[in-house]
Amino acid sequence: MWCGILERKKLSDKKILKKAVKVAKKNGFDNVEIKVEDRVVYLTGRVNLWEDFLKIGSLTGKIKGVRGVVNNVDYPGKKRRERKKGRNEKIGEADVVIIGAGVVGCFIARELSKYNLKIILLEKAEDVACGTTKANNAMVHTGIGEKMGTLKQKLCVKGHKMFDKISQELNIPYKKCGMLILTTKETLSNYKIPSFISNFICRFIIPFILIRRGKKLGIFMEKIGRKKLLEKEPNLTRDVISGVYSPTYGITCPYLLTIALAENAVENGVDLLLNTEVVGIDVENGRVKSVLTDRGFIKTNFIVNSAGLYADEIAEMAGVREYTIHPKKGSTIIFDKETGNYINHSITFLKFPRVEHYKGGGIMLTVDGNIQWGPTIVEVEDKEDTSVTAEEIEHILKYYSHLLPNFPKNKVIAYFAGVRASTFTEDFFIEASKKVKGFIHVAGIQSPGLAASPAIAEMVVRILKNEGLFMKRKKNFNPYGRQRIHFRELNIEEKKRLVEKNALYGRIVCRCEEVSEAEIVDAIHGKIPAFSVDAIKRRTRAGMGRCQGAFCLPRIVSIISRETGIPPEKIVKDGKDSNLFAGRAKCFLEEKND
Ligand SMILES: Cc1cc2nc3c(=O)[nH]c(=O)nc-3n(C[C@H](O)[C@H](O)[C@H](O)COP(=O)(O)OP(=O)(O)OC[C@H]3O[C@@H](n4cnc5c(N)ncnc54)[C@H](O)[C@@H]3O)c2cc1C
Repeated sequence: MWCGILERKKLSDKKILKKAVKVAKKNGFDNVEIKVEDRVVYLTGRVNLWEDFLKIGSLTGKIKGVRGVVNNVDYPGKKRRERKKGRNEKIGEADVVIIGAGVVGCFIARELSKYNLKIILLEKAEDVACGTTKANNAMVHTGIGEKMGTLKQKLCVKGHKMFDKISQELNIPYKKCGMLILTTKETLSNYKIPSFISNFICRFIIPFILIRRGKKLGIFMEKIGRKKLLEKEPNLTRDVISGVYSPTYGITCPYLLTIALAENAVENGVDLLLNTEVVGIDVENGRVKSVLTDRGFIKTNFIVNSAGLYADEIAEMAGVREYTIHPKKGSTIIFDKETGNYINHSITFLKFPRVEHYKGGGIMLTVDGNIQWGPTIVEVEDKEDTSVTAEEIEHILKYYSHLLPNFPKNKVIAYFAGVRASTFTEDFFIEASKKVKGFIHVAGIQSPGLAASPAIAEMVVRILKNEGLFMKRKKNFNPYGRQRIHFRELNIEEKKRLVEKNALYGRIVCRCEEVSEAEIVDAIHGKIPAFSVDAIKRRTRAGMGRCQGAFCLPRIVSIISRETGIPPEKIVKDGKDSNLFAGRAKCFLEEKND
């Protein structure tokens, strides 16, 4: 690890350029021009295919010492996004403007709300947690699966340890369900080696390496033999050879966490501006001056760029782009709660050769009692591509089936995809810009960004201090989130008492998840009000059960309409362009009769 870091420091731009040119030539990229500045590789020119664009980006990103790769290489059919126009009207002034209200931006906002500062958190969507944060596997990784020596590993190891405290303070679900990392007959099946050798490697060598790695990182793990594994997980394949148990592996709810963080930040004085898209950044004399949005501009000296998939475009607006985000999609299958007791721990297995930059996915528990299989890893051209293809579903079912051969696979209730914001160096990019004072990059936050998020926030606060932001601790910071009532989790006596106090608890709107009308009303009138069907879903789970909202959707729409006065046909599923209704059926009739 240290050798890697030393080499990173040592390599000059000249040496990196030499290596990059060599790698490009060797792979036939004669039409790609390469420049290196402050250990960032800038690629221009033209290739024939999008796949080649990815290849040259990855090849140069792998060169030791490279901080970032800006891949401006063209290829036929490359899409260009038009930038929206901003409004030239002052809408605010802040010490720090944070761009993006995903889990990372919200954690940073909450961390900064501990100080006497004016903070504005900007989000282009109509709710928080609408980006990658809403579509991941909710695992609070320990860091064991990350590449040694990377920033993402360091912050994951630290962030994971912070989850106990944060979940208690904010009242969000967090369970240390533990993870079994297995070797099976599949582990080395791609190699033609005698079975006694592969057995030996799977039984002794792999567990030994994992446990030694864990020790280095301060993560407790223990080796488990086949017999004990089958006692712990009776439904496991008989082909299992050995395993390592990581008892502190956790699961949480990413959207409840993010909503609670944002609510707590707002409680402590942060201004959250939803439906506000950043479209430009004003820089004067090498220092940020203001952030331009589609609603007006905000004067500020510090900008934190935590815009997820769009972090490269935000950096470009300030003229400090040092990375390109190449989106990688991951699809997951969700099974009915009926299957929830089929396993007692989350499970993954090792298969060699490993897919680059991929922990491997697995069969995972959720805090809500469902089981999920996945995710896949697929490079996509479009940052908004959250399609789940038949091939991906087939792949997931085939890939993990051998672990639990008799699992009731017909109990699928949903599938979803999320998109990872990867850079070509495949690590987090968190630092203050050297070119423009006051601009802080928080980019490339792919997995394990959720687990690492508390540590990322602490790191950003340190960077801001070092960059000269005057920070004085608030005396009256309130670290506690509000108590959310989840009717389904109460016992019969508690339910009775609640219904006596408020009859709306007695009206169950979502039967699958047992969500009452009172919980929905509470979400609508919350600190960060929920006006769309999915915003209600993220806060209450209404519509997340077996019928996926088929029964409760119209009722939720009418409750939102009743409570807010928004006409039902204007209520959306999840943000702009997600209309649920074309109009009132009666209106159509009236028009026809006219
Ligand atoms: C399939 C999958 C599974 C994963 N599983 C795990 C896991 O189990 N554990 C784990 O630790 N990590 C996991 N991750 C990674 C984790 O989800 C991410 O690292 C994390 O959610 C990143 O959060 P973020 O706040 O950086 O990004 P986002 O949640 O994408 O937030 C960025 C926000 O910026 C906003 N924004 C963008 N542009 C603008 C603009 N111009 N103006 C205003 N706002 C803007 C977006 O709307 C968005 O809300 C997974 C990722 C995927 C895809």
